[in-house]
Amino acid sequence: MSHSPAEVDYLVIGAGASGMAFTDALIGGTDHSVLIVDRRHASGGHWNDTYPFVRLHQPSAYYGVGSRNLGADRIDETGMYERATGLEVLGYFQAVMEEHFLPSGQVTFAPMSDCRVDGERVSVVSRLTSTVREVTVRRSIVDARYAEGAIPATHRRSFAVDDDARCIPINDLVHADGTANGYVVLGGGKTAMDACLWLLGHGVDPDVITWVRPRDPWIMPRETVQARDQVGSYLISYAASVEASADATSAADLFARLESCGHLTRLDPGYEPAVFRGATVSVPEIEMLRRITRVVRGRVRRIARDRIVLDDREVRVHGRPLHIDCTASALATPDPRPVFEAGRITIQPVQASSLSFNAALIGYIESTREDTAEKNTLSPPSRYPITADDWIRSRRDTMLAHTRWLQAPDVQRWVQHSRLNIASGIRAHVAEPGVAEALHTVRTRSAPALENLAKLSNPQEAVKDDGGSPSRSEARLSRS
Ligand SMILES: Cc1cc2nc3c(=O)[nH]c(=O)nc-3n(C[C@H](O)[C@H](O)[C@H](O)COP(=O)(O)OP(=O)(O)OC[C@H]3O[C@@H](n4cnc5c(N)ncnc54)[C@H](O)[C@@H]3O)c2cc1C
Repeated sequence: MSHSPAEVDYLVIGAGASGMAFTDALIGGTDHSVLIVDRRHASGGHWNDTYPFVRLHQPSAYYGVGSRNLGADRIDETGMYERATGLEVLGYFQAVMEEHFLPSGQVTFAPMSDCRVDGERVSVVSRLTSTVREVTVRRSIVDARYAEGAIPATHRRSFAVDDDARCIPINDLVHADGTANGYVVLGGGKTAMDACLWLLGHGVDPDVITWVRPRDPWIMPRETVQARDQVGSYLISYAASVEASADATSAADLFARLESCGHLTRLDPGYEPAVFRGATVSVPEIEMLRRITRVVRGRVRRIARDRIVLDDREVRVHGRPLHIDCTASALATPDPRPVFEAGRITIQPVQASSLSFNAALIGYIESTREDTAEKNTLSPPSRYPITADDWIRSRRDTMLAHTRWLQAPDVQRWVQHSRLNIASGIRAHVAEPGVAEALHTVRTRSAPALENLAKLSNPQEAVKDDGGSPSRSEARLSRS
């Protein structure tokens, strides 16, 4: 920990994955000074308050900051790349701070501090002493809180709980005392899946678990988001999704194609998913989750001792079940704004489902360019998806960003070599079965896919790519 300096080049608000990956890329290419401010006591953002059995959704191989590996690229018992536990993620970010950022002499860190920005006035306020320090920021304030969402430990429940009913956040599940004769898992997202898998993995009978899911999500099979030596399987799945995006005749047809090629999957084959938030689960885990057959569809309004009150009906529960609240929204989804503005950088998604990568990319672009318009062209922001249809927009945004990177050879090189890019090193795998064909598909079908996704997401809207028409984009894609 260090004091706030009176003047810095950059002031980064938030020492979570976004602020850390941005800072790492920035100081890797410049001599600029950076002050990172966070309300929490240590770097790592929400991982400081996460539930004890959490793991990354994705392999550790491409999470964190660009200059340092997370984990050892071990293949775990599932045959896939290891996923760090919450504690490992925290230890990693703390080591990045203590062993890399602070010794660099470029970075200072003010934990337990609020950053307040009031016009030109920027102050850092200690949460322990209320001391206020004014800071002059020479270049930019970096808002690394865009994705700061509600997590189970901190969110406010949107439903009432009667005094004689039992409802705990997922964080407290590890303190269960054996008095519950059943479990009611509340929520349809990845946190709820983690709770169900944890209960099943500890021998709880699926028949004593009730799962209340307001809407079902589309899920990315973890098998398709592997990197490094398994990057071929990622590319083959990605190419199939490009093909589906190019050929689909409607949004419904697109999701049918994405499902049949294995790019997306769902919990209940008989129930149409309405949500896409990037939940990533392995195929065996999905099979395990399907063993829970007591599924209640609806949004919870109140938990009473003997029943759950939903928007439109009540469901009786027997005995004294433990309700597990997994309804926190996890990722915030504010409206996008330009990433680069005068004196301000707002870290936002650019490429879908790659938080660390996006923050590092923005750091690289900031460290290599002065022209704001050029910087924004290379990092078009894309709001995190929520609904199933948002998959279409988000994929289109990602593909548009890809066409723009092709116009900047150094950015393209950076992308190809970044450890945070799931697809890095793909060219070394062209001899593997299916990989050369998949690369060919990506090269030849990306432009038609981009055009078709524009029609599917909004039939009235033409493709708005400042970098050129779809056919020009296609020409560039074919050359890459
Ligand atoms: C259980 C779980 C698993 C996940 N797994 C993955 C995964 O595998 N891959 C992936 O890409 N994403 C994953 N995510 C998404 C996750 O949100 C990101 O990975 C990432 O950790 C978010 O980092 P962040 O820096 O954007 O936000 P945060 O971690 O929320 O950090 C923002 C920080 O800003 C600080 N802050 C806010 N306001 C102020 C202020 N005014 N002054 C000072 N400080 C302030 C907060 O204290 C906080 O520490 C997961 C999310 C959850 C909940």
